[in-house]
Amino acid sequence: MKFATKLLHGSFGPDAATGSVTQPLYQTSAFYQETAEDMANVFAGRKPGFVYTRVNNPTVMSLERRINGLEGGAGAVAFASGMTAVSHAVLNVLSSGDELVASGGLYGGTSSFFRDLAHYGITVRYASGDRAEDFAAVMTARTKLLYVETIGNPKLDVPDLAALSELAHAHGVPLFVDNTVTTPYLCQPLSLGADVVLHSTSKALNGNGNSIGGLVVSGNRFAWDPKRFEKFRDYACGPLSFLVRLRMRMVTDYGGCMAPMNAYLTGIGLDTLSLRLDRITATAQLLAEDFAASGAAVNYPGLASSPYHAIADKQFGGRFGAMLTLRLGTKERAFAFINSLRYALNVSNIGDARTLVLHPASTIFLHASEEEKRAAGVTDDLVRINVGLEDPDDLREDFHHALSRLT
Ligand SMILES: *Cc1c(COP(=O)(O)O)cnc(C)c1O
Repeated sequence: MKFATKLLHGSFGPDAATGSVTQPLYQTSAFYQETAEDMANVFAGRKPGFVYTRVNNPTVMSLERRINGLEGGAGAVAFASGMTAVSHAVLNVLSSGDELVASGGLYGGTSSFFRDLAHYGITVRYASGDRAEDFAAVMTARTKLLYVETIGNPKLDVPDLAALSELAHAHGVPLFVDNTVTTPYLCQPLSLGADVVLHSTSKALNGNGNSIGGLVVSGNRFAWDPKRFEKFRDYACGPLSFLVRLRMRMVTDYGGCMAPMNAYLTGIGLDTLSLRLDRITATAQLLAEDFAASGAAVNYPGLASSPYHAIADKQFGGRFGAMLTLRLGTKERAFAFINSLRYALNVSNIGDARTLVLHPASTIFLHASEEEKRAAGVTDDLVRINVGLEDPDDLREDFHHALSRLT
């Protein structure tokens, strides 16, 4: 089954209870069981069923199954937001004294969370570059996890996932990959050797900018040796240990479940993922080439001038995402450019149906140190563009006009 068909027919058929063709919204807190025995059996996991929406809900489960199917995972757990997914997946593994090694230039919310981990006795070390050797150089005997994003934002760097998964596994640790920016349509990290895939469903998976959500997909190869990973001592069931603990401890105890309404809206958006991304990536490529032809300092993995072009081409199958950046010389010129755009909206998120622009240095990197900004490729003259679904000619004209007004 090809991807666009899988989106619609892969993991979801008409609702068993009613025949409803779309996944119904089960907007309920709790679920009734006929007898006390049934309730006891559902609680004990001996009988399939639902008890309470914090633990699971049919609408949320449908989304978990669909995205798990698209990623080729062993199972998935949905969370209230992308940040809940990231934080809970990491804390499902790490204990005090452990270390995590990450790529530089991570999503701002993630690097801010990583800073906070110091309070829990967890050390985060950043690789100085993108090569596997750069990661190996900062790994120690305490390293328990490698963490990267498929395309850094706004640096637009693309790590070699196969090389990093080899490195991680040679050290007996898992590779976590945030696939928010590329989605399973462009990249399926598990197939390249990753062990856990993270998503903010608030972005391209939903695609309409109408709800916040997150999701963690687990692969089925990493063994989670309980001697090395102490949190799995009570959940030692081989490759499924991570998933079982994530459901039983992280979403159930910490309580950051996805709201059924958000799962419902995200599921509607997901139906059109491939259609939207075909259009968006084609427009982004066109705009990037246009900017390059006009002499602007544009960065996009789809351009041969990007140092990541070859690896991006290999990992993403000839599509390079919705995000591109421009360097306009000064902060004043960057601001003037943003202020004279007509269609591209000045908004801080990504993955919307509309084209969005942002000046990262004065917004999402406002509190970052100079060193963090350097690692993330954030300069004062940088503008981030996230391409949407508008007519490509209108966008071209809008950007040309804004560029031509710069002095
Ligand atoms: C937005 C984003 C997140 C956080 O997701 P929220 O849903 O906003 O909490 C994490 N990682 C990446 C790459 C993102 O773009």
